[in-house]
Amino acid sequence: MRRPTQQLKIAKERIIKLFEQADKEFDTHPERSHRYVKLAKKIATRYNISIPKELRRKFCKKCYKYLKPSINCRVRTRKSQQAVIITCLECGHIMRYPYKKEKGK
Ligand SMILES: [Zn+2]
Repeated sequence: MRRPTQQLKIAKERIIKLFEQADKEFDTHPERSHRYVKLAKKIATRYNISIPKELRRKFCKKCYKYLKPSINCRVRTRKSQQAVIITCLECGHIMRYPYKKEKGK
């Protein structure tokens, strides 16, 4: 079954909006933020699309909770590994995100 491109575009926009909303409500209603992440994940699965790269670091891959640096996750940059290490303080899961060096720098 093929899905029209337009529908995929809308799904992706909804995911982005959910993360924006999660960010806004985190200070006052963190449980809502966690729900938005789960909802975004559901949409992504249903439409078989991936969550935009820039948003992938904003939630835990294990417990799917919204992560905010210095509140419920710890972000460390490892120069030797050229990676960013994010520790979820909700469940202790550790995620490693390699970053690519820009050429010519
Ligand atoms: Zn977690």
